[in-house]
Amino acid sequence: MGFPSPEVARKKLEQHIKKQIPGFRIEDKRKSPLMRLLSKLLFFNKTFSTGYVTTLYPKVYVPELPWREKDHVAAIATLAHEYVHLKDRKRMWLFFNFLYLFPQNLATFALLGAFGNSPLWYLCLLFLLPMPSPTRAWLEFRGYRMTLAVWAFYLKDKLDIGKYVNSIVDRNFAGSAYYWMFPFRRYLLKKFYNYHDRRRNVLEVQEILEILENN
Ligand SMILES: [Zn+2]
Repeated sequence: MGFPSPEVARKKLEQHIKKQIPGFRIEDKRKSPLMRLLSKLLFFNKTFSTGYVTTLYPKVYVPELPWREKDHVAAIATLAHEYVHLKDRKRMWLFFNFLYLFPQNLATFALLGAFGNSPLWYLCLLFLLPMPSPTRAWLEFRGYRMTLAVWAFYLKDKLDIGKYVNSIVDRNFAGSAYYWMFPFRRYLLKKFYNYHDRRRNVLEVQEILEILENN
């Protein structure tokens, strides 16, 4: 009652992000050489190009433009999620990238082997294996906590929270989408439920819900 329509809320959200994140833009993945390269490197995520929105500060890359022209709620849920990443990246600077790519980024130390040091450095290539990344999982948890809050805001009790949280955890945390970053399902499910119950106390969730609520 009295809330702006999703179409209006989407515009407001985009404006809000623009104000907070200098240089923010939504771009077409297909037109970015960097994104095409990434889709090859990230071979384990079969739907990287078509099913995932990717954020590289300060830009957000979508599978195609125009993007979700009729599906404003889904667009808001995704944009709000990416906004969490943009904000975290702005706050933490390159430390964000380090945390996001850890521990796989440690494989670069193998270069020390190539530069004539002990060949033991080549063991660092083992970091390329799909070992869990608690740091990437933490950053994505912050993002998906927001996704969940937006869907709950619009769908109310029509959202089957148990089913939805399960699918997020299975596909994105325990599955291949983010390189099997966090296989500890029960721990995560509990975390999602706990935070969802007190989502109004999470600052960035509060920030977004206020935009969706106020005319
Ligand atoms: Zn994310």
